[in-house]
Amino acid sequence: MADSIRTTCPYCGVGCGVLVSKDNAGGVVVKGDPDHPANFGKLCSKGAALGDTLGQDNRLLTPKINHQVATWEQASDLVAARFKETVERYGPDSVAFYVSGQLLSEDYYVANKLIKGFIGTANIDTNSRLCMSSSVAGHKRAFGSDTVPQTYEDLETSDLVVLVGSNLAWCHPILFQRLKAAKKKRGTKVVVIDPRKTATCEIADLHLAIKPGSDVLLFNGLLSYLDQNGAKDQSYVAAFVEGLEETLHATAVDILSVAKGCDVSVADVLAFYDGFLKTDRTLSVYSQGVNQSSQGTDKVNSIINCHLFTGRIGREGCGPLSVTGQPNAMGGREVGGLANMLAAHMDFTPDDIDRVSRFWQAQNIAKEPGKKALDMFEAIHEGQIKAVWIMATNPCVSLPDAGRVREALEKCDFVVVSDCVDHTDTMAYADVVLPAAAWGERNGTVTNTERRISRQRAFCDLAGEARPDWKIITQVARKMGFEEAFPYESSYDVFHEHVALSAFENQGRRDFDLSGWIDLSRAGFDEIEPTQWPVGTYAKDRFFGDGRFYTASGKGNMVPVQPKSPVYPVTADYPYVLNSGRIRDQWHTMTRTGLSPRLSTHVIEPYLEVHPEAALCEGLLDGGLVEVTSNWGRAILRVKISENMKRGEVFMPMHWSDENSAEAVVGRLVNPVCDPYSGQPESKHTPVCLKPF
Ligand code: SF4
Repeated sequence: MADSIRTTCPYCGVGCGVLVSKDNAGGVVVKGDPDHPANFGKLCSKGAALGDTLGQDNRLLTPKINHQVATWEQASDLVAARFKETVERYGPDSVAFYVSGQLLSEDYYVANKLIKGFIGTANIDTNSRLCMSSSVAGHKRAFGSDTVPQTYEDLETSDLVVLVGSNLAWCHPILFQRLKAAKKKRGTKVVVIDPRKTATCEIADLHLAIKPGSDVLLFNGLLSYLDQNGAKDQSYVAAFVEGLEETLHATAVDILSVAKGCDVSVADVLAFYDGFLKTDRTLSVYSQGVNQSSQGTDKVNSIINCHLFTGRIGREGCGPLSVTGQPNAMGGREVGGLANMLAAHMDFTPDDIDRVSRFWQAQNIAKEPGKKALDMFEAIHEGQIKAVWIMATNPCVSLPDAGRVREALEKCDFVVVSDCVDHTDTMAYADVVLPAAAWGERNGTVTNTERRISRQRAFCDLAGEARPDWKIITQVARKMGFEEAFPYESSYDVFHEHVALSAFENQGRRDFDLSGWIDLSRAGFDEIEPTQWPVGTYAKDRFFGDGRFYTASGKGNMVPVQPKSPVYPVTADYPYVLNSGRIRDQWHTMTRTGLSPRLSTHVIEPYLEVHPEAALCEGLLDGGLVEVTSNWGRAILRVKISENMKRGEVFMPMHWSDENSAEAVVGRLVNPVCDPYSGQPESKHTPVCLKPF
């Protein structure tokens, strides 16, 4: 190993730079990269413990067929043959890929190209559907493109930061530290909008513990208040915004109704509205509390409406900032890893289909969007999809109604799982498992929340017979007969093509453009510095400050959105709302962070956080056990009584699986409903009942 290798943390969407070196005993030392603009040398607990997660514990080291060790030749032959046969017999829509925000952009690119360009179906979706797809849909409605206009620096130049549905302190800790430091330095005001009192409230000047799901009402009320108090940026709106009158008309609401509907005091609502009104540099940061809802897209637009109305967008310290959960959710969006996107931020329009098919020289390109995650697994359950390849994700734990997902995979004719770990809940259903490279072994790029592309670099040998995902997919593609279209010998080859596609017949038509990449040589790829896009002729520091949007009219859209209740309301039988989310020191289903003893000491077992009155009412004792039941499943958890909860709400972490704790899989409880525009599941609102166990 060179003195130290510069790479990127594989966990959250902050995308911190990491330096890896060896100590005198041959161990691995992980530090924050002082030159990376996401973290400037800092790491959170998860990043700092990355060294604990290396090694071969729970690594999948060989391919397996029917749980028996097989060669790569046998396994890839079988995967290619079964996908080919299935397509020939039942058509392209009978197969699907379910992929992950953990993949590198190069892995994602090759998977997307194979299924959309050559197999001929858009049945590829990603676990990022669960993370930020409502923000994608909201961006596209407002901007005509999936563009995040703001950057991390705005946290440090804003005067008011509104955190909506975001426990930044635990879920994006380095951004929280940056905001905390900015608050100390310049007195930034912070408003937290979240039904729970989370660790993030430590720096809140105001916490609005709104009723779960009432965000649209709150932001519609803000828009009305801004309108009544003359906050419209007349020249910006006149020149660059449309949909104003219909939106103001449709969303008008008074403060009393807002306070009642959101279950917060009039004084608190007024304090928030007045702060927003009087502060030009206002940044709205939103995350899963907004996105994971049956009204997630509308929530995003209700926030963006307020920024378009005041012209507070695309300028220093002000605008909407969607914070992604996963390390490469953004990269997946860029290459088209979502079922409703094509590639390089192109859509399923006739022009884009033609453009991408010519670039790929693909005769059989998919012509319409494929099935989004929930629909995909339902189609598997119904027998319409007969072969599925699941890459680097664990849907038997993370998808809603996880019991039905398990039934679907049990019934499916052919299930392939490629992953770096052995023994996941999902792997139990696989006909073929393929060992993928892990962090530290793979080379490629990821894009963080602020559109910054960074390198992940290998610093150790591949474990066992593991291979990079792009290589596994390439091998299968060749065996399916697509040799010419999949000539890749390295992740550099894939990146090169990805850059070329972003620029292909673009001329400023699309926001995503890498055409100005400084050095596209192999050596240049090795040396990539963290770089924000766009990086080309059409590059600009910020999007939308100049009023140029990617809609047909070129204007930003205000969208008239109306508050709606969650699909499943609480009832007498299921009187509590189950909220789910991350804890500070674990990541996803703990397949990696669970290997670190120091991370596991933070929270040692799954729990249910309950308000004291609810506990009293249900006869629950702090530290006792509770049986949580929804219409879809049950879980047994340790009770944690907490004043941080609203009375009717309970919270459960999302990390535990059958692999590490029986009967604590949150996905088994969560209602299988989703946002009609984005397809993102309502993971923050499931009616449940409680009883002592
Ligand atoms: Fe940074 Fe997120 Fe990794 Fe923590 S988990 S070090 S905040 S990228």
